[in-house]
Amino acid sequence: MDCGRSYGVDEVVYTCSGCGGLLEVRLDIERLSDTVDIGLWRERPLNVWRYRELLPIFDDSKVVSMDEGGTRLLRCRNLAKEMGSENLYIKCEGDNPTGSFKDRGMSIGVSKALELGFKATLCASTGNTAASLAAYSARAGLRCYVLVPAGKIALGKLSQAMMYGAKVLAVKGDFDSALKAAMQICLEERSIYLLNSVNPFRIEGQKTAALEIFDQLGFSPDNIVIPVGNAGNISAYWKGFNELRMLGLTEKLPRMHGVQARGANPLVKAYRSMSWVMEPIEKPETVATAIRIGNPVSWKKALRAVYESRGSMIDVSDEEIIDAQKLAARMEGLFIEPASAASIAGLRRLMEEGVIDKDEVTVCIATGHGLKDPEIVLKICEPPIEVDPDTEALRRMLTV
Ligand SMILES: *Cc1c(COP(=O)(O)O)cnc(C)c1O
Ligand SMILES: [Zn+2]
Repeated sequence: MDCGRSYGVDEVVYTCSGCGGLLEVRLDIERLSDTVDIGLWRERPLNVWRYRELLPIFDDSKVVSMDEGGTRLLRCRNLAKEMGSENLYIKCEGDNPTGSFKDRGMSIGVSKALELGFKATLCASTGNTAASLAAYSARAGLRCYVLVPAGKIALGKLSQAMMYGAKVLAVKGDFDSALKAAMQICLEERSIYLLNSVNPFRIEGQKTAALEIFDQLGFSPDNIVIPVGNAGNISAYWKGFNELRMLGLTEKLPRMHGVQARGANPLVKAYRSMSWVMEPIEKPETVATAIRIGNPVSWKKALRAVYESRGSMIDVSDEEIIDAQKLAARMEGLFIEPASAASIAGLRRLMEEGVIDKDEVTVCIATGHGLKDPEIVLKICEPPIEVDPDTEALRRMLTV
């Protein structure tokens, strides 16, 4: 995306060998305009592969899928009222096979690993990428290695990666150092395929969430509010909406609002100075472990999404995140993990600051399932009350 150099779709390359910049998949939109048929899409099941023509996998026999995507887009009237909005939807990405949006990208990424002839996959992860890569690699019959920051990964995610049979390596350091090591290894060890979101094929899978929202609403929303960690997902949504527009299916593009945790907010700082430089955060810290990232690899794509869409990049405190997590559960019955709740905490801010109007249609992205991180619940909710099994004792506990 920096120097304009291009690579073949079958080359194994993760960043530009000329300038070190990020890669992105460019589709031949002109040719696709003739083949894409929205009526045909709508005859297919609602999942990632509904949008087959826009997904750069060429050998159907290599497709690795678990019916990912097709997640609920729920209208949330109670939360909307609480936030002062009239048109709020939550995209429930915890509905995916392993409980997070990462499955969308891994379906394409692991298919690509097979297509390219790899026998093993590797990623660095705050947890959900590891869980997802482990599952899809298992299904594809590939060996899988995951690097996670030691002691800083939610229990649900760790147990998934272990159960799916990945080799889990707990790196003594944070996510950023694990990712650096992962990239280095895959550049040297050419038989292992790197499936972090620096891999542009993952973004291709993740962009389908934008296409789904368009399909589910019947139009493009005014705002997307989305948690930002390594910044792949916000870039993916922006790519999805842009492709819809280039294909002539919609005129409108939503404004993209990225939300980071206060203790891991390098993109917020860049946005505030409206600049194209990002200073990494040395020791990122937040309860929302999925976005505990100080040096987001796709930062430039994220800033592009925000600047081009005239959106924003804001941060929220851990307290606001936890409040939002409880609100989603207690007002809508939605149990989402802390990182996901950052989008709802962010929406509250954006409403208060008048960035979003009450009658605009806004979609908050709930990126992962609440059961991923059961330990946080024990910290923030009332513990169960022990009581004798007689009706008198029980009745005293009830207020009707
Ligand atoms: C990966 C992840 C994020 C962050 O997405 P990026 O693409 O890294 O910005 C947010 N929430 C959850 C639950 C995640 O798993
Ligand atoms: Zn380059």
